[in-house]
Amino acid sequence: MSATITLQPGREKSVLRRHPWLFETSIAHFNGRARAGDTVDVLAADGRRLGRAAWSPRSQIRARMWHFDPVTPIDDAFFRARVAAAWTRRGALGLVPAHGLRVLHAESDGLPGVIADAYGDTVVLQLTSAGADKWRAAIVSALLRATGCARVYERSDSDVRGLEGLAPECGWRAGQAGDGPLEIVEHGLRMEVDIQSGHKTGFYLDQRDNRALTARLAAGRRVLNCFCYTGGFSLAALAGGASEVLSIDSSGPALQQAQRNLALNPALPAARAEWLEADVFTALRDLRKAGRRFDLIVLDPPKFAPSASHAASAARAYKDINLNALRLLEPGGLLLTYSCSGGIGVELFQKIVAGAALDAGVDGRVLARLGPGPDHPVGLAFPEGEYLKGLLCQI
Ligand code: SAH
Repeated sequence: MSATITLQPGREKSVLRRHPWLFETSIAHFNGRARAGDTVDVLAADGRRLGRAAWSPRSQIRARMWHFDPVTPIDDAFFRARVAAAWTRRGALGLVPAHGLRVLHAESDGLPGVIADAYGDTVVLQLTSAGADKWRAAIVSALLRATGCARVYERSDSDVRGLEGLAPECGWRAGQAGDGPLEIVEHGLRMEVDIQSGHKTGFYLDQRDNRALTARLAAGRRVLNCFCYTGGFSLAALAGGASEVLSIDSSGPALQQAQRNLALNPALPAARAEWLEADVFTALRDLRKAGRRFDLIVLDPPKFAPSASHAASAARAYKDINLNALRLLEPGGLLLTYSCSGGIGVELFQKIVAGAALDAGVDGRVLARLGPGPDHPVGLAFPEGEYLKGLLCQI
């Protein structure tokens, strides 16, 4: 018999709208015994069965719904079905692991706390909730079966595991490292991915389509790529015919990887690339003092606001970099500016950029609102899944 949780009166509404999170405050009673990650039955106050969830006693999100159907068990077959469905959806969009591909996007693929990215024949798995952690073996086997990939490496070292009372877990779960670094080919560009020590699972797959957009816009332009990481936008701009590309990051290892990635693509004009290890906040000011000007600037900073409570300080940081970037742009120049902060919505982000333009004394317009590619879906019932937003602005 699974344990049950009974919701406060009225709190079944969000579950009936298929929202997967149950907060501590929405739970009236807990009956039975369950350890972190165990499956519990979820009941409305009137006793109606709403579905099954993973119990997480340490987290404010006390339970995460696995499904909204009171009969289907949560077992290996459940994970096989969810993973296979997510894989089929990607295949139908023509997305393949050789290019780098997010296979599982957590709640939005019906698997709260489960992220999986495929790079060639290797899947990198990140588990961030107690329920996901408990079903590791079933998820690994479902991934091997659905994707046909040979290896699974776990990179569960995200800070959010702490909120669930989970320690970091990294290592090979199936197969082992091949010879040499992993490689993907994105829009014809070879890129190495360091799955063991790179950021997240190794690569920012969510920006794939925006890197292609940058390539289309770069011809003949002087490009500044801020927060370049391993050079994704920089290589795209060179491939698109940029006249020069200055790339800035504060991480030495990221810049070294970026330069190795450039070397892997000998058709690109390496002499047009310049790399700068610096803090973007100061570098933008220094570039202005030095009289540098650009025609296209990419700002893709790290998450300044992990949650809404950090929104005010994050807003100041976004304003600062956008203001100082806009001051470096020639008239007619393009700004591709992003925020991956869940705590900052697109409307607020646009207001911040508008404020920056006002202070920079430039007149700007939004040519396009941008987001992640289709392998990062957002469940219609789960707006929290939307985190990456971008604006293509012209002054
Ligand atoms: N645009 C990249 C991803 C950027 S991730 C891509 O397409 O792959 C954010 C990057 O910002 C990281 O590489 C991190 O090292 C860098 N970073 C964080 N804070 C910084 C700062 N203050 N100045 C410069 N770089 C910073």
